[in-house]
Amino acid sequence: MSSPMAKRPKAETGYQTRKDDLIVITGAGGFIGGSLARYFRDKGFTRIRGVDRKPLPEWYQRVEGVECLSMDLSEKENAVRAVEGAVEVYNLAADMGGMGFIERFRVECLRSVLINTHLIEAAWRAGARRYFFSSSACAYNTELQKDPNVRALKESDAYPAMAERGYGWEKLFSEMVCQEYWAERGLETHIARFHNIYGPNGTWFGGREKAPAAICRKVIEAKHEGRNYIEIWGDGTQTRSFCYIADCVLGIDKIMHCDQLIATPVNLGSSELISIDDLVTMVEEIAGVKLERRYDLTAPRGVAGRNSDNTFIRQVLGWEPSTPLREGMRETYQWIEQQYFDRKAGKRVVQD
Ligand code: NAD
Repeated sequence: MSSPMAKRPKAETGYQTRKDDLIVITGAGGFIGGSLARYFRDKGFTRIRGVDRKPLPEWYQRVEGVECLSMDLSEKENAVRAVEGAVEVYNLAADMGGMGFIERFRVECLRSVLINTHLIEAAWRAGARRYFFSSSACAYNTELQKDPNVRALKESDAYPAMAERGYGWEKLFSEMVCQEYWAERGLETHIARFHNIYGPNGTWFGGREKAPAAICRKVIEAKHEGRNYIEIWGDGTQTRSFCYIADCVLGIDKIMHCDQLIATPVNLGSSELISIDDLVTMVEEIAGVKLERRYDLTAPRGVAGRNSDNTFIRQVLGWEPSTPLREGMRETYQWIEQQYFDRKAGKRVVQD
């Protein structure tokens, strides 16, 4: 792939963001966007605008002091309104979910291209200093992910391109849009390829949840509803790495403010590889139960194996996600269990 840096215009970089600069976070009603809004609020930023198409009562987190706008960003005029006055824009909005969602709703996934296309154009016109795009490990060539004993994916493995149909191709295309806005128009863009982010405040039921939350929920249901088995999608041999949400939001901040990472996709993931079977064992241990396993071989299972090669991020940032999986899963399990009890008690939980 030819480097977009070759055509780099003379744009001013290294801008020191001020605490009263306006930060816009899209997808703020969802998991990562909401957690990022909280992270920046806690860091002392005073002007944060969250945008999401969900009605406000359905946002996973409503962070005090954060302006919340409910708008569909696939409409151009909403994208323009969303970034008015923005110094930094973080695009975390996408129609997405776990394998059960992205294998079944490819049109919805592809249509997220409208969000990024309108948003980056609007951000550039509004004179934003920096623009962040949340890409995915699904952008990687699927041919390299056919074996559970994977070689971890490094950034150059996205090309030659054979991304995950629908969702992955949208991410790969939008990455290129970001790269060219830098190369031709001088908008400073930053791109992270997330690898399975998990943690409290993520989706845990309803069809969009991902493996860590789904497994926690199934174990919790079995434990409290007196069932002695768990249904697992696939044969349990699939391998993945999972990155804890606190590492993810810290990583986004670091990536966005690193000049070496302008228009340069970088992995944001853990390199702790685990099979789905071993993840189930881990959750059983946290829950203190042992369940019979029933494998659903017809369910969506995704690629056979996927891991994050963190050589590049370590080299440029001297940092990589490091929360041990067991620690993050314990926090996640406890949060989902509380949500489960609240829901059972008739309390409204955010995802209802
Ligand atoms: P999420 O579903 O919790 O949040 C995404 C939010 O975007 C949702 O609240 C949704 O309502 C909103 N949205 C969707 N369409 C919109 C539209 N047209 N206008 C405005 N808002 C819209 O998902 P998440 O896990 O927080 O993911 C955030 C970003 O990170 C997404 O771009 C996703 O593709 C990417 N990503 C996430 C993971 C992961 O493991 N969670 C992995 C790879 C990439």
